Amino acid sequence: MNVQKIGVVGAGQMGNGIAHVMALAGFDVVMNDVSQDAIDRGRLIVSGNLDRQVQRGKITQDAKEAALARITGTLALPDLGQTDLVIEAATERETVKTAIFEDLLPHLAPHTILTSNTSSISITRLASRTDRPEKFMGFHFMNPVPIMQLVELIRGIATDEPTFKSCYAVVEKLGKTAATAEDFPAFIVNRILMPMINEAIYTLYEGVGNVQSIDTSLKLGANHPMGPLELADFIGLDTCLAIMNVLHDGLADTKYRPCPLLTKYVEAGWLGRKSQRGFYDYRGDTPIPTR
Ligand code: NAD
Repeated sequence: MNVQKIGVVGAGQMGNGIAHVMALAGFDVVMNDVSQDAIDRGRLIVSGNLDRQVQRGKITQDAKEAALARITGTLALPDLGQTDLVIEAATERETVKTAIFEDLLPHLAPHTILTSNTSSISITRLASRTDRPEKFMGFHFMNPVPIMQLVELIRGIATDEPTFKSCYAVVEKLGKTAATAEDFPAFIVNRILMPMINEAIYTLYEGVGNVQSIDTSLKLGANHPMGPLELADFIGLDTCLAIMNVLHDGLADTKYRPCPLLTKYVEAGWLGRKSQRGFYDYRGDTPIPTR
């Protein structure tokens, strides 16, 4: 199927990034969220990020304006009805996602492929809650979407080949690289990355190191471009916790037990960069470790 029009549910960090790269690649995008504020904020971020690409000479001013003009914001899910591909990028909670599908499905054209950007929830289970499990799959972008090269494509047990091929073709049109993952908890990237981040939080919890020494160790000692705690703040601590819970529940192995300190930060509403506080405090000019 030739995908031309794309619906994006959720205008948060991932949703606006997905809208950005899709519009820049020439797709028409309809972006939905629950409040006008969230949509406006999403558009503003896309505009700012496109500006940065113009300043760095990566795209022209014309390309920026054309991309922005291809993105329509809407509060009404039925407006996504006539799209060819929907990418759900709302909050990482299964009840949120299934409620979105329930509201969206009656309006969706029969040919529309439905996908989720979930970091960890079972694609097969999400698909089973829809009327089109064969046209459902995981379309997992990395953060920040405009910069990261990888997209994980995850087939559910019922996903058919034309659906997979159509999604693969979209990734190619974006100029990104697809990696195929089987539908097991957290797929490939997060299956490996999140236990490392969780272990870094345990290292902090047990007093082996402080925020600065842990991040410095992994940056200079393992050549990671970002420390694990800095990265956790970047991803969002609520998202990290949700992924660890999916690994713990789905694989039933205590090695995936979320660190109590991670839970504590989420309980405090210290979710990382998006709430201006996490393992670092971002309210001043330079980030200050909170432990
Ligand atoms: P976010 O909190 O930045 O954004 C989520 C957005 O979803 C918010 O704007 C919220 O208002 C919106 N939303 C909530 N309920 C909704 C509904 N019923 N209808 C429409 N919109 C709704 O979160 P995010 O980091 O963008 O994550 C979104 C998804 O992407 C999650 O499934 C997450 O696991 C996945 N993901 C996140 C990352 C990451 O690094 N943050 C990376 C890859 C995938």
